[in-house]
Amino acid sequence: MAKASSYHSTKRTRKGAVTSFGSRTDVGCTREQNEDSLVVQPPLFVVADGMGGHAAGEVASEIAVTTISECAPDTADAEELGMAVEQANRDIINAALAGEGREGMGTTCTAAMLEGNQLVIAQVGDSRAYLLHGGKLTQLTRDHSLMANMIEAGQITPEEARVHPSRSVITRALGSDPLTTPDLYEINVEDGDRLLLCSDGLTAMVEDDEIEAVMNRVADPQRCASALVNEAIAAGGLDNVTVIVADAEGAAKVKRRRIAVRTWITVLFVLLLLVGIIAGAAWGGYTYLHSTAYLAQNDKGMVAVYRGVPGDVLGFSYSELVQDTDVPVADLAPSASERIAQGMRVSSVDEAIALVDSYREELAQQKASAASASASAASSEASPSDSSEPAGSTSTGGVASAR
Ligand code: MN
Repeated sequence: MAKASSYHSTKRTRKGAVTSFGSRTDVGCTREQNEDSLVVQPPLFVVADGMGGHAAGEVASEIAVTTISECAPDTADAEELGMAVEQANRDIINAALAGEGREGMGTTCTAAMLEGNQLVIAQVGDSRAYLLHGGKLTQLTRDHSLMANMIEAGQITPEEARVHPSRSVITRALGSDPLTTPDLYEINVEDGDRLLLCSDGLTAMVEDDEIEAVMNRVADPQRCASALVNEAIAAGGLDNVTVIVADAEGAAKVKRRRIAVRTWITVLFVLLLLVGIIAGAAWGGYTYLHSTAYLAQNDKGMVAVYRGVPGDVLGFSYSELVQDTDVPVADLAPSASERIAQGMRVSSVDEAIALVDSYREELAQQKASAASASASAASSEASPSDSSEPAGSTSTGGVASAR
């Protein structure tokens, strides 16, 4: 069922159920004051129709909705909702004793909690709850009225009750007997079901068939509530009219949404974890690449010191020239020069520089000993074939053997 958006009439309840609702109360055409009160506080909805004259009815119905609003449970629980209604009854009696309103003031009370597929109702008086299910309107509550008793006893028909002189006599209300208890109802509703709470200002003026037609015709709950009040006024508006319309969203839908939310939370968590792992690895990798060093041959054939690693590590490459040196790679012993030609890794830049320093020192010593060897060779008429090789220099590495 398509619903026109009505921004103020959708509220998320504590269980995550979303209920779309609308409400309207009107003084009507003949009364001077509106003694009806209502609560629209999903999942709680209450209609109270006060009586007592001289504004006392308004006081009684106002106390009822205030107390129930404060005392209602967090979730749909018939027993606890009934206890809130009983508390409202005591509060009205005590207020009258304290001089607030009038002695004998009273009110009807139809309190409902609609949450997911659960509907609970606590009922006193002749305000009603109806459920529209599959396009069919059903009265959920039983009126505490003389007319209801007479109809049930087969003494009159509903049509006769509508115009009966005692049609407004109610047999149970809040505000007179401290032991008054509400009738409690627990009903399973389905996705798409529509709850109606109303005072008798609607039901006395508009027949159930017409109420059903409007509830089927007007999709938006706020417009629907307003249309029902308009019907009562058009029919004469002899009493105050209060209407609440609330659309049930079934448990299946709520459950689906909860699972979807949970799935999203899991996906988000895993993503955050992955980002953390990647960031940690990247940071570790960067730190490693930044601290490690290697020696390689530059384009002039000299040893150069680099920060990082030769080539790639897992697709990342990090290499930065720290310094070129004056040490020729070709002059080093083959074991060193071969490794440097391929990139000789060491643990740090400092170590790399120290290594180059030692190469330079060794080459200098090598030169010095070669010079002294050739000097002594010249003086001792050494064989000309040996003159170009430093003494003791062999294929195993001149640097080591020069020591
Ligand atoms: Mn009324």
